[in-house]
Amino acid sequence: MTIPRVSTRNTFHQLPPLRSSSLRNYATYKRFNDNGSSRSTQFNYLNLLTNRRTLYFAGGCLGFYVYNLHEAPVTHRYRFIWIPYWLESKIGDYSYRQILSQYQDQIIPHSNPLYARIGNIMNKLLTVAIEHNDNESQRQHLKNLHWSINIIKVDNDKYPPNAFILPNGKIFIFSSILDICKNDDGLATVLSHELSHQLAHHSSEQLSKQPFYILLSTILYSITGISRINDLLIKGVLEMPASREMESEADRIGLELMAKSCFNLTESVKFWERMHQAEQSFNGMGDSKLLQFFSTHPQTEKRIHDIQHWLPELEHLKESSGCYEYQFGKFSDFSKNFFNR
Ligand SMILES: [Zn+2]
Repeated sequence: MTIPRVSTRNTFHQLPPLRSSSLRNYATYKRFNDNGSSRSTQFNYLNLLTNRRTLYFAGGCLGFYVYNLHEAPVTHRYRFIWIPYWLESKIGDYSYRQILSQYQDQIIPHSNPLYARIGNIMNKLLTVAIEHNDNESQRQHLKNLHWSINIIKVDNDKYPPNAFILPNGKIFIFSSILDICKNDDGLATVLSHELSHQLAHHSSEQLSKQPFYILLSTILYSITGISRINDLLIKGVLEMPASREMESEADRIGLELMAKSCFNLTESVKFWERMHQAEQSFNGMGDSKLLQFFSTHPQTEKRIHDIQHWLPELEHLKESSGCYEYQFGKFSDFSKNFFNR
């Protein structure tokens, strides 16, 4: 369908008569897939790409990219992160206020003994995460954070089993995951995984990529004129695999923290098996919100397979960390309490 051109002539501003060759399209509508438009877009992009300023800008961007490449702990994967700790914490503070106001009536009172139990597990994991960290600025950052735990009471049939740590050290646990955790080692599996996202700066990594996704989406839209397909392409090709890669990385880092903190590693396999069962029952319900949650995570069977493959190496790490030696209270130093400050 062609849309008629709307001329501004005979409106409030009387334009001087123009020769047909110099007619400008004042307030005219053009379709994005119009042939002329696409030719001019290609021409403009070619001009833009060969422009000297564009080359300077591209060189600057490349320098900025290389300068901000950081190595992930344990997996030694290089990734682009330009968001500093202070901004990461500010974003965490903002999200914290939002989540607190959303779930304020569902937060289990802090007098509940569950908090002390989860706090003890987190203290062990944090002690190891700080003591075994080669990065001095991250060590200081982790020590300075105001760590806190909030358990959210939810309907187990409606909310997927979930837990997360915000970049400012605030931990949220949905009650729907507690039965699946079953014991302290199960809880440590969840908490170490979430702490690993924090240690590996996964939220900053995701945020660092956002301006590029927006730019890419804008370029694709200007070429194709279809936003929905572009968004799906960016999500499917760039965002989802990256998120699955981060999940797997958090599993590995988390298990190393568990090994060094002397938790039972085979219990984490059992935890993921219980998680898989829960996932199956949720999938059976066909709830789109729950299916969406699981689609951003790696397949649980793959997770179990990976953990089983890592177990011999992790058991060796546990042994070399002195977990099987007779030690009078390896973690009896309760001065290292990162909560209630
Ligand atoms: Zn995760």
